[in-house]
Amino acid sequence: MQIQKNKSIRDFNTFAIDAKADYFVEITSVAELKELINSDIYQQNEKLILGGGSNLLLTKNVPGLAVHIAIMGKEVESQLVGSAVVGVNAGENWHEFVLYTLEHNLAGLENLSFIPGSVGAAPMQNIGAYGIEIKDTLEYVEAVDATTGELRRFNKEECEFGYRESIFKRALKGKYIITRVGLRLDKFPHKLNTSYGAIEEELRKSGKDPHDWTIADVSKAVTQIRRTKLPDPAEIGTAGSFFKNPIIEKTEFERILASHPGAPSYPEGEKVKVPAGWLIEQSGWKGKRFGDAGVHKDHALVLVNYGLATGAEVWDLAMQIQADVKSKFGIILEPEVNIY
Ligand code: FAD
Ligand code: NAP
Repeated sequence: MQIQKNKSIRDFNTFAIDAKADYFVEITSVAELKELINSDIYQQNEKLILGGGSNLLLTKNVPGLAVHIAIMGKEVESQLVGSAVVGVNAGENWHEFVLYTLEHNLAGLENLSFIPGSVGAAPMQNIGAYGIEIKDTLEYVEAVDATTGELRRFNKEECEFGYRESIFKRALKGKYIITRVGLRLDKFPHKLNTSYGAIEEELRKSGKDPHDWTIADVSKAVTQIRRTKLPDPAEIGTAGSFFKNPIIEKTEFERILASHPGAPSYPEGEKVKVPAGWLIEQSGWKGKRFGDAGVHKDHALVLVNYGLATGAEVWDLAMQIQADVKSKFGIILEPEVNIY
């Protein structure tokens, strides 16, 4: 394990914010992580855990230790009737892991294709897209206690998953470092989820009979839609959706409908979910740019760094948007991105 000093972590966050960490270390095994937790440099410093940095806004330098989780490895752990449990270590790239499950003809993650970042961060906010969340297939999360170094296995209930939420983002925030995830995935024949958004429209373009659509086809369709709709972090700094979609009371939504007939919403139990991107666009922020910080021209929920924006500038823009949406709609948008 090699500790680097005064290291730029620009390449470790997809907003491409040029922040520095006093110390930086890459961890490639659970044993190494335990060794680190017992070290003076770990115990005497503030810590920041880094996966792919695609859900993170660095508003300052790290006055301490940045720990990049790079524990690799994945395998089919157990074969069951109709399903299989696949175990995958935290440092694996999420999308590459999804492709691995497709190669094994295992269903459940295809709608979550092309989400950036690492496997270890996926349970943090219960990643979700196109009507599916990681909690739908999650079997267990293994994590190391960030103080004692003890390894613990959480079952699905213990993870307390919610909409873009988990216990690791709330009650146990900063207390555990995720090292491995287990997922229970379905063997053939598969039940496809194609009703969300433009998936079916994209699938139809191939001309293939819908009865012959496969999980690999769904993955390709989702990837293609995402490529055309979302900015590529390799070209422009971004952490995807900056705010969560608010879930509000029906009475509150009726008030919005009175002033904005046709406002979009989706049922969420007794409540309704309103797309945050719509609220931001209606408030006039889409495509706005202030220096190098801006709101993407095609997607109002996506804040971007055009080059040299600081994290503080992006955060200032986010707070202006939040205040404006509150004054126009009475809704407080909550950041989805982790702010450091
Ligand atoms: P990081 O940004 O590195 O970390 C996120 C948080 O988790 C930080 O607080 C970090 O300290 C902590 N953390 C990281 N690894 C660990 C670990 N092993 N143990 C404990 N804590 C850890 N998200 C969705 O849910 N759905 C989407 O469809 C989606 N689309 C996106 C599209 C784009 C273009 C971008 C840029 C982002 C998108 N995201 C989406 C957000 C992001 O990709 C996911 O949240 C992803 O899971 C973050 O992974 P990461 O490794 O980059 O996390
Ligand atoms: P979209 O399809 O344009 O839809 C806009 C919003 O409306 C989405 O946020 C989505 O909520 C909601 N929505 C649309 N159809 C829905 C349905 N049938 N049922 C319930 N809710 C519906 O969204 P998009 O921006 O192109 O993103 C597509 C998917 O990828 C979404 O699931 C989105 O969450 C995910 N995504 C996430 C991020 C991120 O950083 N978190 C970034 C890009 C895309 P949900 O978000 O709850 O699905």
